[in-house]
Amino acid sequence: MLSTYRTLLTKKTQLNSDTYLYHFDLIEPKEIKFIPGQYMMLKAPSSKGPVSRLYSIASSNNIKDSFELIVETVPGGLGSNYLFSLKENTEVIFQGPAGMFGLHENEKNKVFMVTGTGIAPARSMIISNNQFPISKQIPNSKFQIYWGMKTYKEIYLLEELKQLSNETMEQFSFKICLSREQNLDIIPDEDKKYFSLGHVDNCFFQQYSNLTIEQLNKFEFYLCGSRNVVESLKQTLLTKNIPQENIIFEKF
Ligand SMILES: Cc1cc2nc3c(=O)[nH]c(=O)nc-3n(C[C@H](O)[C@H](O)[C@H](O)COP(=O)(O)OP(=O)(O)OC[C@H]3O[C@@H](n4cnc5c(N)ncnc54)[C@H](O)[C@@H]3O)c2cc1C
Repeated sequence: MLSTYRTLLTKKTQLNSDTYLYHFDLIEPKEIKFIPGQYMMLKAPSSKGPVSRLYSIASSNNIKDSFELIVETVPGGLGSNYLFSLKENTEVIFQGPAGMFGLHENEKNKVFMVTGTGIAPARSMIISNNQFPISKQIPNSKFQIYWGMKTYKEIYLLEELKQLSNETMEQFSFKICLSREQNLDIIPDEDKKYFSLGHVDNCFFQQYSNLTIEQLNKFEFYLCGSRNVVESLKQTLLTKNIPQENIIFEKF
């Protein structure tokens, strides 16, 4: 059964031209428990009555009295523009948490292939629980994010990701894969190692070009982003003989 949460939008932070991080403090109930990867359901008003939109929780489940969302404002989109129109200190109703997208507790290395705001549930999975090890249940797994974005200008959370990768003694690492840049010239030299050109699957398979299928079977793939991207990534992984049970996904 989903719970209804009365919340207060306490902070709205612009991340790039059309993406915002929304911070909601709980009014009632005062506490939320969720599994990293789960989403909340927003009811947005429309001329035909309220419409539901789902948003993955982007924050840590250590924090019980608030949660965060990362939402891209879609041109003409009902839910995302409703959120965008809200001023700080407005009350907002959500239902949730819900969803099955979450870390599987096994020893496999976790590879996130996410695009755009698909970073939201991945962020929650990485920053929840303890910072090091990332998960008490699976302390020996490596966590790698391959984050697909179009251009360098769109990037957000870079400092946070860098800090996390330092704090977790490289149990966590990340690569931002830019699909519309011709080269990495505009990126400061010290940050170039965090970037690559192309799509997330190419980035991963370039880095691991020599792996045998047995070695690939030690990885588990978490896909998140728009429906078409996730479907195409899934097909790519299947053609590389990655077993279906090692592909976990959330389609936005
Ligand atoms: C489980 C789940 C979790 C999700 N989590 C997030 C999240 O964390 N952050 C987030 O931003 N979104 C997330 N989404 C997507 C979100 O639920 C909405 O679909 C999205 O915000 C668009 O809704 P809207 O009401 O603004 O647009 P709509 O009114 O539904 O669509 C308006 C128009 O925009 C088009 N459109 C819809 N989405 C996009 C897009 N991304 N780019 C370009 N055009 C588009 C539609 O085809 C339509 O023509 C998630 C979806 C699911 C299913």
